[in-house]
Amino acid sequence: MNSCGVSLSAATVALGDEAKKMAAGKASRDSEEESLSLTVEEREALGGMDSRLFGFVRLHEDGARMKTLLGKAVRCYESLILKAEGKVDSDFFCQLGHFNLLLEDYSKALSAYQRYYSLQSDYWKNAAFLYGLGLVYFYYNAFHWAIKAFQDVLYVDPSFCRAKEIHLRLGLMFKVNTDYKSSLKHFQLALIDCNPCTLSSAEIQFHIAHLYETQRKYHSAKEAYEQLLQTENLPAQVKATVLQQLGWMHHNMDIVGDKASKESYAIQYLQKSLEADPNSGQSWYFLGRCYSSIGKVQDAFISYRQSIDKSEASADTWCSIGVLYQQQNQPMDALQAYICAVQLDHGHAAAWMDLGTLYESCNQPQDAIKCYLNATRSKRCSNTSTLAARIKFLQNGSDNWNVVQSLSHHPVQQVYSLCLTPQKLQHLEQLRANRDNLSPAQKRQLEQLESQFVLMQQVRHKGVAQGLHKSQSSCVSGPNEEQPVFSTESAQYQQATSTGIKKPNEHLTLPSNSVPQRNADSHLSSHIATSGGQQGIIFTKESKPSKNRSLVPETSRHTGDTSNGCADVKGLSNHVHQLIADAVSSPNHGDSPNLLIGDNPQLSALLIGKANDNVGTGTCDKVNNIHPAVHTKTDHSVASSPSSAISTATPSPKSTEQASINSVTSLNSPHSGIHTVNGEGLENSQNSTKVDLPLVSHRSTSQIIPSMSVSICPSSTEVLKAFRNLGKNGLSNSCVLLDKCPPPRPPTSPYPPLPKDKLNPPTPSIYLENKRDAFFPPLHQFCTNPKNPVTVIRGLAGALKLDLGLFSTKTLVEANNEHMVEVRTQLLQPADENWDPTGTKKIWHCESNRSHTTIAKYAQYQASSFQESLREENEKRTQHKDHSDNESTSSENSGRRRKGPFKTIKFGTNIDLSDNKKWKLQLHELTKLPAFVRVVSAGNLLSHVGHTILGMNTVQLYMKVPGSRTPGHQENNNFCSVNINIGPGDCEWFVVPEDYWGVLNDFCEKNNLNFLMSSWWPNLEDLYEANVPVYRFIQRPGDLVWINAGTVHWVQAVGWCNNIAWNVGPLTACQYKLAVERYEWNKLKSVKSPVPMVHLSWNMARNIKVSDPKLFEMIKYCLLKILKQCQTLREALVAAGKEVIWHGRTNDEPAHYCSICEVEVFNLLFVTNESNTQKTYIVHCQDCARKTSRSLENFVVLEQYKMEDLIQVYDQFTLGLSLSSSS
Ligand SMILES: [Zn+2]
Repeated sequence: MNSCGVSLSAATVALGDEAKKMAAGKASRDSEEESLSLTVEEREALGGMDSRLFGFVRLHEDGARMKTLLGKAVRCYESLILKAEGKVDSDFFCQLGHFNLLLEDYSKALSAYQRYYSLQSDYWKNAAFLYGLGLVYFYYNAFHWAIKAFQDVLYVDPSFCRAKEIHLRLGLMFKVNTDYKSSLKHFQLALIDCNPCTLSSAEIQFHIAHLYETQRKYHSAKEAYEQLLQTENLPAQVKATVLQQLGWMHHNMDIVGDKASKESYAIQYLQKSLEADPNSGQSWYFLGRCYSSIGKVQDAFISYRQSIDKSEASADTWCSIGVLYQQQNQPMDALQAYICAVQLDHGHAAAWMDLGTLYESCNQPQDAIKCYLNATRSKRCSNTSTLAARIKFLQNGSDNWNVVQSLSHHPVQQVYSLCLTPQKLQHLEQLRANRDNLSPAQKRQLEQLESQFVLMQQVRHKGVAQGLHKSQSSCVSGPNEEQPVFSTESAQYQQATSTGIKKPNEHLTLPSNSVPQRNADSHLSSHIATSGGQQGIIFTKESKPSKNRSLVPETSRHTGDTSNGCADVKGLSNHVHQLIADAVSSPNHGDSPNLLIGDNPQLSALLIGKANDNVGTGTCDKVNNIHPAVHTKTDHSVASSPSSAISTATPSPKSTEQASINSVTSLNSPHSGIHTVNGEGLENSQNSTKVDLPLVSHRSTSQIIPSMSVSICPSSTEVLKAFRNLGKNGLSNSCVLLDKCPPPRPPTSPYPPLPKDKLNPPTPSIYLENKRDAFFPPLHQFCTNPKNPVTVIRGLAGALKLDLGLFSTKTLVEANNEHMVEVRTQLLQPADENWDPTGTKKIWHCESNRSHTTIAKYAQYQASSFQESLREENEKRTQHKDHSDNESTSSENSGRRRKGPFKTIKFGTNIDLSDNKKWKLQLHELTKLPAFVRVVSAGNLLSHVGHTILGMNTVQLYMKVPGSRTPGHQENNNFCSVNINIGPGDCEWFVVPEDYWGVLNDFCEKNNLNFLMSSWWPNLEDLYEANVPVYRFIQRPGDLVWINAGTVHWVQAVGWCNNIAWNVGPLTACQYKLAVERYEWNKLKSVKSPVPMVHLSWNMARNIKVSDPKLFEMIKYCLLKILKQCQTLREALVAAGKEVIWHGRTNDEPAHYCSICEVEVFNLLFVTNESNTQKTYIVHCQDCARKTSRSLENFVVLEQYKMEDLIQVYDQFTLGLSLSSSS
């Protein structure tokens, strides 16, 4: 707990002194102020309280007393700050932020933290502050900022005591952001950590299983769920939810055999789930869907009825009920049900569509049009274009229709009036409840409403037999301010889930009296499988007046409800649900199939330990006080105004602005009940959050240098001075230079921005005529000059008489036909653009799914692809002879249709040519290259690593068909790369200078993509808008492309061709600096650095004479820093009585990485006892070791270098006099 930079006790003591001084100065204090001073005991108690207690306050025996104390402290601090007119130590604000956070007053916490942030320039040293800030951002769904704050915490303090909580929350946020790789990594990191956090490991495991499901890895998901079921003492709620997921997954997916058996599995799972939790309306709903799909209508109705009885009725349930009625030729009941659905959720596109088809079937095209329009207005409408066409069709045909139309059944308006509005029904309930105390006017109102109610009951006379009539008649939703915020979202997910899995029998069978053929367009009548939101559906049941409790909106329910811990339990539910729900509404949703967020509200039930209204039975103590984040969507439901009857419904413009979850705008919506209690506080807090949130980011955009970077490197004399001290007395901890470093940040866009006419610069190119040209030393200098992000060396193969035929597909097959090829399955995209699979809009995400094959098989594919295209060309030619001549010119383009659906192509990539025996001739041929581009050379840093880094210091081969794309990236650790096109076809390159990588990183974040890990293809228009220069050129066979350190690039094949590529690390300050910066950035982002820079730096010091003073300083500085770390860690271990066992290392021993977090581990290896005995040596970093075993009892510490040895290497590493080797 000493990682916090602020001395909290000091702050409170100071406060005490201040208070005393004031007390002395002001004799005439009133008694209220008197009570505002803190006693010594109180100050002591407060001294240990900061953000790290968040979620754990309640665990304390005297949680209530602590809250009182915190409240007093807040008042005390506030009054002190007020009296001092804000001129207090910045730590006061930090502390005030912590107190408010612990009291769950998020807006006050945020504003206090912001004061601290603006006053404290080295705020980043304060892990507790960053953690608190991250929690506040998380609460506000400002995930972008929350992720940054949390990553900063782990960067500045990898051993932070709440690392597990951070990993859990990062996992959740990345899941929402559809960055599944990162999500999984963080969940796993949370899982290995034995410290407490707000979820149990069963729940974290559930999230991992669900993550697979979300990615449509159904078999992995099934396996993980089933494994979870084997867990001993699995909490009932987790069990119920796991079974529910399994059931629903079996219903939707083809995991097992035929339809009959999959539905029977699904039903079994759901029934078991209901055994574990009989009160889950969600499970009942799913069960209803399963029965419905196999034609067991009666069972389906019973299940839906049960679902509604469990108070989890939702728009989805009603929509499904409507479908069922419609299938039973009961249009009036169907109508009622659909209307219930859209009343509950005005944006329920599926219900509107189904209602539309119902009206069509009843000869009411005008009403149908209105419904379809409402459907298209919904954000969640998945087939707007089809609907638009249908609307047009109906509009054109409706003139005739009106004539044909016989007695109208019930126009939209009319029907609607038969159904009481939610407001009226609620009003009715209220009047009924107060029957004895009504004014005459109110009594009249009651009478009116009662008669309307009776009328409404009468209208739906048919449904009685189906056992739904009672509940149906009481279909009521709360006033819109109180409308469920989440149900809408989950419905949306379900739409996403089910679009691909819609079953024919989900389509409506139309009532027999319907107008024939009008609805033959079954795409419109498709009932989009929905599985619903759970809660907030204010479902009044006459039989259980107590259910009125559910009329209390989520927002206010947790307000000040401190006595009831379960309010918070629900809160967590909401929150996590919110996370998941938001994912669905995130901007990219629906564009790409992998964005499917398979979720349902039950997940939140899982997390809370109990579903919705079962207050009092939850596992409150476990989840503590993570608060709900109901705000984001509240706006949305407010937007769908209660008064909007079917025909007049117009979503407010606000609702369309809800899309971006990460944006600060999400804060504009009314949030938590804390504000609704203090009505006036709402406005203020909104403003403050709106204005303040981005603040941190503004500061952070200024370039902060990563810890090992040159910019903070002192002059060599200082380093040497530090070194001398080291040599004599060991390492001095007081060395300022070696203090913590701020977390790295991407560079901001270079300023001033380039004028638009400079955005397409010519590519630096060098034409070679002979061998002498190739070995001309300035060529090396030209390529490594940081001013040239890329250099094309034209005609290199010819000049050197390289035999490129050795890398031709034919030769490769002859040499090693069974050799493994990684395959990327991609879409053949038009020209330089990247469209979503449906071809509706340009996106950054690019499809690139991985699989494997052999060289022989890929060669076959490559050849047949070529022949096929020849055949197509010939066909086109003959066709064009028959057509006019004008058109034949455009034949080239016609091969690439502008928009989807796109052809699928395969790209053979990352073929490993490292084996010198298998690829002897090929590798030998490459030794003819000039030294600076050779795979191995003395001047290549990667030749000093001492071991193989596949694809970096070994050759990789690429086999391509036209359109094969290498998505945008920087090379591993920003190393330079060499790429030779073997031919016969060309490649097209797109290149952006290194200093713009921050801009590209921003674009990736905006598009919910991971700059380092995802596949993305930049939209050139976006780059042009952002003034990013793009070099663009064609690489012909025999051309060598030199990508300079850090250059961002993406490549596509124009023709059929092979390429070979590898990395090199020129011995320059620029290369070393960028490599180290990326090393730190990777660490921040939890991504493995393929180049072990620490290990490499020591090898450099041993092997290389460096004559560039700048490079020398940087290396020296890094060595010093590492020396200090080694020494400090070693001393700490020994002091704690942990034996450090000498292990040494073998000559070619690779660098070590932590098997958990993948960070490089140097010198002191934490190896599990077990693997040490077995000599398998599973290495951990210290932090991961301590997470699994706090006092390291399960680990041995192996030492690979003697301190004296390291000091000697450091000592002997001196500035050389001339360049060591340049060519
Ligand atoms: Zn680790």
